[in-house]
Amino acid sequence: MLTDALFQALFNSSSPRLLLSAHGRDFIIINTNEAFRIASLNEALSATGKSIWDLFNAGNCSCENLLLLENSLMQSVELTQKSELHDFEYQFAAAGQIRNYWKLEIVAIANHDGQPPSVLLTLDLQNEQKNTGIQQHPELLNIVSHIPVGLCILSGQEMRLEIVNERMLSLWDRNYSILGLPLLEFMPEITHQVFPQLLQQVYTSGIPFSSRGAIAQLVVGGRLKTLYVDFSYTPLKNSEGAIDSILVMAEDVTSSVMGLQREQQLTEKLTAINEELSASILELAENESRFRFLLNALPQQVWTADSAGLLDYVNQVVCDDFGFDVPTVIGHGWQKFVHPDDLVQSLEKWKNALETECEYVTEFRLLCHEGNYKWFLARAIPLIENGKLLLWIGTNTNIDLQKNNEQRKDEFISVASHELKTPLTSIKAFNQLIQRKNKEHALDGFIAKSAQNISRLERLIKDLLDVTKINAGKITYELEFFDFKKMLIESIENVQLTAPDHEIILEKAAEISYPGDQYRLEQVIHNFLTNAVKYSPDGQKVIVKSIIEGTDLLVSIQDFGIGIAEKDRMRLFERYYRVGDNAMRFEGLGLGLFISSEILRRHQGNFWIESEPGLGSTFFFRLPVVS
Ligand code: ADP
Repeated sequence: MLTDALFQALFNSSSPRLLLSAHGRDFIIINTNEAFRIASLNEALSATGKSIWDLFNAGNCSCENLLLLENSLMQSVELTQKSELHDFEYQFAAAGQIRNYWKLEIVAIANHDGQPPSVLLTLDLQNEQKNTGIQQHPELLNIVSHIPVGLCILSGQEMRLEIVNERMLSLWDRNYSILGLPLLEFMPEITHQVFPQLLQQVYTSGIPFSSRGAIAQLVVGGRLKTLYVDFSYTPLKNSEGAIDSILVMAEDVTSSVMGLQREQQLTEKLTAINEELSASILELAENESRFRFLLNALPQQVWTADSAGLLDYVNQVVCDDFGFDVPTVIGHGWQKFVHPDDLVQSLEKWKNALETECEYVTEFRLLCHEGNYKWFLARAIPLIENGKLLLWIGTNTNIDLQKNNEQRKDEFISVASHELKTPLTSIKAFNQLIQRKNKEHALDGFIAKSAQNISRLERLIKDLLDVTKINAGKITYELEFFDFKKMLIESIENVQLTAPDHEIILEKAAEISYPGDQYRLEQVIHNFLTNAVKYSPDGQKVIVKSIIEGTDLLVSIQDFGIGIAEKDRMRLFERYYRVGDNAMRFEGLGLGLFISSEILRRHQGNFWIESEPGLGSTFFFRLPVVS
């Protein structure tokens, strides 16, 4: 009698087995043995309770086979006898693409307690690969198909392809139809490459071989293509311990090799650029330190400011003068050191320079570390590159000595002028007395000449005194309405008397009652007219115009004399400035225009010159008319 234990022992013996329960044409899986579970890679674990047709279906069996199986099962159950089915083609999912042929043994067992009959189904592998190690371990086949490298097994001397996974096929650009074929048959292009020889070597020596980045030339997409591969050949032994196949693993590393090459090229390029850059930085640093050394060696204050006008560098001289270190000076900015009386005008000029991107020039007093203010001449120019202002480079030159000398000179001139004025007043009085007492009029000519010289001397002294007053800020203005046209006519008449060779023409004269200091404005007109006469020695016309333009009174005095070169024009209004060539030819002190410009400035006016050397000059001034 077959005991349960005996049945279990037989059921679990080496071949894959299924125990089924017959229900008409359907057969329900009641149990599966260990060998079946391994072969199916546990596919069968979940099969218990399911129909056999879920397991054997069109996905892994041919329809023909399924029909044969069904008939055999039915026949066994009906006749309660054993039946066999040969060459049954069935693939466990775990076996991948491997085609297996099985011999099926079907044994029907009748149940007498009214239960449906049972069927014992045993599968025996039939195909020739049955004895190879790998085929005996179908779980390996599953692993093979999932392994993320190209893998195949080549068996026998002729290297017949026994197993291959998808990844290897795609590396080779082949399909499963090559299974079972010898290597050189499905890959003739490698006949003369190193691979067949290496395989033979591994096969006979039993020593594994591996290589990285080897070059292989394979037909891919119909064309011979060069690939870089990492590969290994491992000899496999059969149960008798003899080498019967080679496990080949390969990976296409073309893109990483190419990437590596590119990376290498890039690295080389980058290294070269880096070296160049370091050299430039070094050079730059050397230049900069040389530049800073130079700036510090200059005896002047040197500074730079950014495009927004913020101080960002000062040289050592600045620090020495102010008694602070570089960060403190930069932190404070100039304003802190500028004398309050000079601050407004210098800030205005700086603002204007920033807006116009033109040179900045000003004079101011700076508070030095001894606690006293010293005069400096500040100049700055913008550094412009490709139309973009990069920075301002400025210098402050100590002009304290010149300023003090000028002041002393002014003081001296003031004292001397006063001293000269007293005897001159007496001489003038005596001259008038002589004029009156000169009954025979024999001395008239001499007296008139000396009177003329007295008034010239008087004017010179007046000018000198005015300059010293202007510098000391002591000049006073008395503003009241006066008839501008009348003043103009009288001034012209006065100058005309002393200039018989010239014709002074009042071409236009605006009728206007102007609020200003008549005496001082007359001084301006007189100066312009005498200059026009003086600097047109060949005797010409002088044309005077005064017109109302908008809200301004515009006055021009035109001569046809020697003219003024452009380089001198802006400097004429400076104190003591005289055009070089004229200094010896024409008498004068170079004070008239300086005084005139101060007077016009104090009347909120402005002035300018248009001139052509050799053709003459026109002096303009514009005064705002207060309505
Ligand atoms: P001065 O005439 O006493 O030298 P000014 O201050 O009046 O001093 O003039 C300054 C300089 O400007 C003169 O020395 C002269 O070179 C130049 N200048 C002034 N007016 C004229 C003019 N109308 N034509 C040519 N040069 C002139």
